[in-house]
Amino acid sequence: MRHGSIPGARGRVRPLTLLGDEALRTPCREVTAFGPELASLVEDLFATMYAARGVGLAANQVGEELRVFVYDCPDDEDVRHLGHVVNPRLVAADGIVLRGPEGCLSLPGLEAGTERHDHAVVAGFTVTGEPVTVEGTGFFARCLQHECDHLDGRLYVDHVTGLRRRRVLRQAARAPWARRG
Ligand SMILES: [Zn+2]
Repeated sequence: MRHGSIPGARGRVRPLTLLGDEALRTPCREVTAFGPELASLVEDLFATMYAARGVGLAANQVGEELRVFVYDCPDDEDVRHLGHVVNPRLVAADGIVLRGPEGCLSLPGLEAGTERHDHAVVAGFTVTGEPVTVEGTGFFARCLQHECDHLDGRLYVDHVTGLRRRRVLRQAARAPWARRG
């Protein structure tokens, strides 16, 4: 690996926005400037994701309401997927629907069985404005759908229903990081 190419090595670990923060419920703006500020945001996202031991992170999870996410995520065959997408569009989410455990760095320590498609395709751009397409199956497809949701102001708990939903929302309300009052 080339020196200096480790994602996030030059990034700053930023505080995470948590459930209850408006930034998580605000649809993010399209990126229009592919300059050094965007590159530095992507670096910060990687640094923050790795510090929190996550597999994906969207920009509004560090309070930047811009359409960018990063990922370093295995699929069900243990193939590692590493990258970022600017202005992502979920162009396909299909295949069987699986309910599997899903968590989020904005609801730390919690998870809930969440239904997701087993296959997803995201089209967007790199930090330098080159078109990019990312395809995933299994857990990585789940990650791609989860991160696209973030940029539209949605959280995985929005997909959880019934008893599972009541349980995870109750746990969130009682969590040490929960906003009180
Ligand atoms: Zn999340």
